[in-house]
Amino acid sequence: MLHQIGDGEYRCEFFYEKEETSEDIILVLEEDKLWLKKEKDGFSLPRRRDFPDGILRPKTARYLFSVHRTSFFLSEPLQNRPQSFSLEGTFALRQKLPPWEAFGGVTAYHLGYWYHHNRFCGACGTKMEFGTKERDLICPACGNIKYPEISPAVIVGITHQNRLLLTRYAGRTTGGYALVAGFCEIGESFEDTIKREVAEEVGLKVKNITYYQSQPWGFSRSLLAGFFAEVDGDPTVTLVDGELSEGTWFEREAIPPITSDMSLTSTMMDAFRKGEV
Ligand SMILES: [Zn+2]
Repeated sequence: MLHQIGDGEYRCEFFYEKEETSEDIILVLEEDKLWLKKEKDGFSLPRRRDFPDGILRPKTARYLFSVHRTSFFLSEPLQNRPQSFSLEGTFALRQKLPPWEAFGGVTAYHLGYWYHHNRFCGACGTKMEFGTKERDLICPACGNIKYPEISPAVIVGITHQNRLLLTRYAGRTTGGYALVAGFCEIGESFEDTIKREVAEEVGLKVKNITYYQSQPWGFSRSLLAGFFAEVDGDPTVTLVDGELSEGTWFEREAIPPITSDMSLTSTMMDAFRKGEV
């Protein structure tokens, strides 16, 4: 999976002040997109040395984390639009970047999005200040503290004997099969979310819910928890809330091989196909 870059290779200890070097990666968000460096066959994450003079706003780079000992910084909006750069949505990260860079890029996007959308206090409207001891934003007027926001969500591999339920989302022209998934509502446990989402999307009841693995997924600013669960009772699928266009039972041997092992969904489908779960 995308985040599996080696034990200890992602380091997110907080440093309030850290000087960037010419080799460090500097990401800049604008319109909820990232400025990436154009390459012959795609994009790369820009290093400090890639920015022409006068482009970055001086002394605004904020240290985020390191991946494989390369530090990632977030900087304020650019002063000018450089020719050699392109403003891209996070989908561009999933194309030709090495996995560790894609993971670092989308994780920086997740943090950058949070910083950008919390510039002012939601309680009193005062400009927020950067916390100096941990990663937070503090309102100097009313003391409101904002911590980075992560939305928990579940992915459910629903099984019935030797079969797995694969789904397709309505309205998407691209993309292969998926599993039932959804965000947790406030007040729900993972198990509650699973039972509700399964009932809402495919009209089934489930039992024997078993945790599989999790994945940080900055594309949707979420943390995904993957579970397998067995159908409880009638396995007839009913597409209830219109979110899905298809829900089909696949025998283990008939599950299509995955084309990428980047996501938890793909990993779960492949684990079932191979008889590992
Ligand atoms: Zn406030």
